[in-house]
Amino acid sequence: MPRHVFAANWKMNHGPTDAREFLKSFLHYYPRHSDRQVIFFPAAVAIPAVVEGLKDRPDIRVGVQNIHWEDKGAYTGEISAAMARDAGAHFVLIGHSERRHVFGETDEETGRKVAACLRARLAPILCVGETLEQREAGETEAVVLRQLHAGLSRSDPSQLSHALIAYEPVWAIGTGKNATPEDASRVHRIIRAELKVMSPEKHSAISILYGGSVNRGNSPQLLAAADVDGLLVGGASLDPEGWSAIVRA
Ligand code: PEP
Repeated sequence: MPRHVFAANWKMNHGPTDAREFLKSFLHYYPRHSDRQVIFFPAAVAIPAVVEGLKDRPDIRVGVQNIHWEDKGAYTGEISAAMARDAGAHFVLIGHSERRHVFGETDEETGRKVAACLRARLAPILCVGETLEQREAGETEAVVLRQLHAGLSRSDPSQLSHALIAYEPVWAIGTGKNATPEDASRVHRIIRAELKVMSPEKHSAISILYGGSVNRGNSPQLLAAADVDGLLVGGASLDPEGWSAIVRA
């Protein structure tokens, strides 16, 4: 993975038509860079439009926002890792806080999904993070480590170099209240130390991203924080000019 990773989580925004328009504008602002990795996570129905829009820009990758852990079967409304790969995705968000807290995704399911990604040669970005209550109760470390273990423990440690982690405190997502660079660094250090134990040989290849109310004003400080290898951005990735300012940093 290049030094900094910039992941745009479009959530349920930008269908195929808007995605095409977005890319026309974004690619104008963002010429090719080889020292960073930009990844778009569009809604699944917009993946073909985004893959097509990026056909001359292999430096930019595409991912899906969720997968099912089975390879195929009677799971109406779901997509598998193999299907995502076939459609041109290289990355998958796993365990985003909206999946966990709005759709009831469990720790156990995140572990199955990470394993399914690795089977299909997709790179999972496992999202972990505490709620405000958990933070105020001093449980941040315990929650993040529990989610990390549950997400990675079904996968072979030798494969973990293909995974990324995103620390996304739930209280910071979409609220306008980002973690301070010091807070982010502290939790990233805890994650890094645990990854070292879980995968002594591969841990240094695993990027740890910060996500939660990142914008063009706070992104340079967050990116410069120790142990922050990149950013996962929701709202501020929806505007091509603003997003290009963040990824050009
Ligand atoms: C996200 O959805 O992963 C996220 C970090 O959202 P926002 O940047 O809008 O807080």
